[in-house]
Amino acid sequence: MNPSLQTQCAHAGATPNDDTNAVTNALYFSSTYRYDPANLPSPTDVYARESNPTRTALENVLTKLEQGAAAAAFSSGSAAAHAVFMSLRPGDHIIVNQDVYSGIRIMLKDFFIPWGLQISFTDLTDTKNLEAAITGQTKLVWTESPTNPLLNIVDLKAVIAICKTNHIYVAVDNTFATPVLQNPILLGADIVMHSTTKYLGGHSDLTGGALITAAEDDRWKEIKHIQHIIGAVPAAFDCWLLMRGIRSLVPRMQLHVSNAKKVAAYLAGHSAIEQVLYPGLASHRGYTIAAAQMKEPGAMMSILVAGGKEKALQVVARLTCFVHATSLGGTESLIEHRKSSEGPDSATPDNLLRLSIGLEDADDLIADLKQALE
Ligand SMILES: *Cc1c(COP(=O)(O)O)cnc(C)c1O
Repeated sequence: MNPSLQTQCAHAGATPNDDTNAVTNALYFSSTYRYDPANLPSPTDVYARESNPTRTALENVLTKLEQGAAAAAFSSGSAAAHAVFMSLRPGDHIIVNQDVYSGIRIMLKDFFIPWGLQISFTDLTDTKNLEAAITGQTKLVWTESPTNPLLNIVDLKAVIAICKTNHIYVAVDNTFATPVLQNPILLGADIVMHSTTKYLGGHSDLTGGALITAAEDDRWKEIKHIQHIIGAVPAAFDCWLLMRGIRSLVPRMQLHVSNAKKVAAYLAGHSAIEQVLYPGLASHRGYTIAAAQMKEPGAMMSILVAGGKEKALQVVARLTCFVHATSLGGTESLIEHRKSSEGPDSATPDNLLRLSIGLEDADDLIADLKQALE
């Protein structure tokens, strides 16, 4: 049998064949593992920062989710992104989509530019911009799609084709799409990153990150070396919790998406809203590309509220079902005035609210928005 993603997720990490016959996966807290004096250096787990059985089980699950060759789990999505940038060398040039998660923009500006990376923040929704930005030193392209928080769509196949011609490594932050809705490795990407804090964990109760590679190439070996030596690794309990979340990932995403479609359709017709940014609406600039590269348009959206920041904040204050908080991908719907959390560099419009559509009854979400927008 070649089990589907849904079937694999339902069994994520379970190994009912060890000595205990436990049906769900074991949780090993041990930081250190006994040596066999006759077999050194040890071929098995030695020290938990380097590897441990719970994290290995998670990494195997992550590898399958994105149909890659190997995976590395980190203590946050940011730590995962850091390992990719750290695998470059001072003087290397990278191209980062202009509309990038604000924490990664800050990481690049505050740490990697001083360290010596040359960075072009480029609008990759038009591949002409990509071609113009490539130099002889360009080693990596980094993009999300859909992007946070503007929900722009980057044509991943087109970007990857240009990068392949120019021998440039492509990294895709697939946090908004999830492996259920989009598989960048199948589109030709070299590496996929996730903030597992979001949909993969799915319950707003853990912080984590992941990298999944298409091939165990030299860059991957360097990334594993960074994971091991820098040590931004997740605790065993968080690995276990993440596998627990992944077990319900497929049905959760189905409900997230169906709720989001209903909410977006409602908001799109509302006179108090200037624009709904959701790639599942036919009016969205990236609708056709999203439909081609994603199975479904996801459950994140942003709205531009008529009347500016004051009006947007009033809407947030009136909501009772949506929780006013950052982050996304949990069972509860969240709403956030994104510019306020992005820092002084933010180019996000002042009247933008970002919505993470949860698993509530869609009618309740719509009723809540209706009363708040009145
Ligand atoms: C949250 C997020 C990150 C950062 O992940 P952390 O787990 O918060 O470090 C990176 N990219 C995207 C798209 C995100 O939403």
